Amino acid sequence: MPMLFETLCEYYDKLEKITSKIDMTKILADLFRKADPEEIDKIAYLTVGELWPDYLGHPELGIAERMILRAISKATGLGIERLEKLLKALGDVGKVAERAISMRKIGALMVAPLTVKEVYEKFVKIAKASGPGSQDLKIRILIGMFVSAKPIEARYIARIAIGQLRLGVGEMTILDALAEAFLRTRERREIVEKAYNRVPDIGLIAKIVATEGEEGLRKVRVEPGIPIRPMLAERLEDPAEILRKLGGEAAAEWKYDGERCQIHKKRDTIKLFSRRLEDITYQYPDVVEYVRKFIKAEECIIEGEIVAIDPETGEMRPFQELMHRKRKYDISRIAEEYPVKVYLFDIVYLNGEELFEKPYPERRKVLESILKPNDHLLLAHVKIVRSLEELEKWFLEAIENGCEGLVVKAVRGDAIYQAGARGWLWIKYKRDYKSEMADTVDLVVVGAFAGKGRRAGSYGALLLAAYDSERDVFETVCKVGSGFTDSDLAQLPNLLQPYIVDRKPARVISEIEPDYWVEPALVMEVIGAELTLSPVHTAGRNLIKRELGKTAGIAIRFPRFVRWRPDKKPEDATSPRELFEMYLAQLRKLETK
Ligand code: ATP
Repeated sequence: MPMLFETLCEYYDKLEKITSKIDMTKILADLFRKADPEEIDKIAYLTVGELWPDYLGHPELGIAERMILRAISKATGLGIERLEKLLKALGDVGKVAERAISMRKIGALMVAPLTVKEVYEKFVKIAKASGPGSQDLKIRILIGMFVSAKPIEARYIARIAIGQLRLGVGEMTILDALAEAFLRTRERREIVEKAYNRVPDIGLIAKIVATEGEEGLRKVRVEPGIPIRPMLAERLEDPAEILRKLGGEAAAEWKYDGERCQIHKKRDTIKLFSRRLEDITYQYPDVVEYVRKFIKAEECIIEGEIVAIDPETGEMRPFQELMHRKRKYDISRIAEEYPVKVYLFDIVYLNGEELFEKPYPERRKVLESILKPNDHLLLAHVKIVRSLEELEKWFLEAIENGCEGLVVKAVRGDAIYQAGARGWLWIKYKRDYKSEMADTVDLVVVGAFAGKGRRAGSYGALLLAAYDSERDVFETVCKVGSGFTDSDLAQLPNLLQPYIVDRKPARVISEIEPDYWVEPALVMEVIGAELTLSPVHTAGRNLIKRELGKTAGIAIRFPRFVRWRPDKKPEDATSPRELFEMYLAQLRKLETK
């Protein structure tokens, strides 16, 4: 006997009245036991407010409150104004539907009762309707459902239609309930969850456990094309503790400031999924091509971070730049304008074999082995660290290069890939303050880098320095390649030309070797995301050594050109001491947050 929709609604009604998670699980378990295998998947989807797994996209029903009122009016003969009044009074379109159906003039007469399967299929039809005439179709389907509905059914039809079922049931509660219903105890939820981590399709998992039990779940394998639930990192503020937690030795990878991406390759089909398991393939046609060209594997699932790149300087840009890719049209042009690189950090499946249980160092080796050398798909920067100093130095280098910090990973034999779990095998160590620098600073051009791409023939970035008047030296702070207009860029060669020299000017202290050295003369105003410590830049090194005991200089993260300051001499530039004070102020601000 197919389950009646009314039965499901009675369960929903019970769930609505309950606040205890344990009771909720019991009711759901009872519901699942009653369902037959043909409908259990549909019940699971509907209960979490979906129609299919997330990775196929959240269903867009495109139904507004007003449309529901129209359908109710047609199905009951009650006038729209009356329904609108009711809505004002009751504040919930579900309750309006329920009340209206119970008052209807046109009776449900002899129509057959609704089944769960029917209602589900009608909503799928609504979700798939598109193009001209789709609004009519949707309203006709809604009217049809309301005509057959009992009052309680009308409540939930209206709520599903508007996307506000709000039973408060999450997917994890469903997993608990499935374990309780079919594996006898909730404690065995781990087995259900393991399968769900591999194939995060709540409907499919429900069907498997209902028909094949534990054995079926154990057979669930990852499948290229279906995203897995990602492994997540714990967080610690204290690097010494991080190292201790990981056993004194760890692989410290740069934590890129981009978008996490699962790359699935199944022969010629390549799909990309976001951290939330949404299909984002269309946003990155360039990445798809790189995978086609540079990954040597018939089938694989690899993970990496997509990072926006400054097309001129090749430097990393902040995460926000990827927003340009969130559009449906013209994506190839946008892809050229806002290029990206992918930094790969894991592999969980290769040519039919799952790699979850392999320790991190082995997975990394496999990942390295399937990547052809190229400039677009790269391996995440990694360093095996065994001391606090090594860890700190590497952290500064990561920040300096536009990263958020490090993800420090266990390298022990049990360092498996924990799909779907936030665990201590990965620990993130990052700076959280992304506040804009409080003020601009004035810096002196001491070097220049040749432009690439659109900037060929001009300069791609400039090396900037602060001025230390006590020692009469210029110490480097950052490389700036952003914030210039086309006309600023066009003027650069002429502006710099008189000052280009063929060796490092004597007063400049730099560890970076630019393509061209520039005699200190030109001052520019610059702003950035924040001040950071850097192992490469030299500004204020003596101060930092003396006052913080660290070997580092002050640098600006994500610097941007604001304007030239022809009114200033190089000796009027901001000093390392001022930068250091600003850095301390920034730290204090952070501490009081
Ligand atoms: P956050 O907001 O800090 O990025 P999150 O909750 O999205 O955190 P976490 O697992 O806590 O995810 O932190 C790791 C995140 O960092 C990953 O989701 C991924 O997007 C990103 N990331 C960047 N570089 C790496 C790397 N080398 N290894 C793993 N994750 C990385």
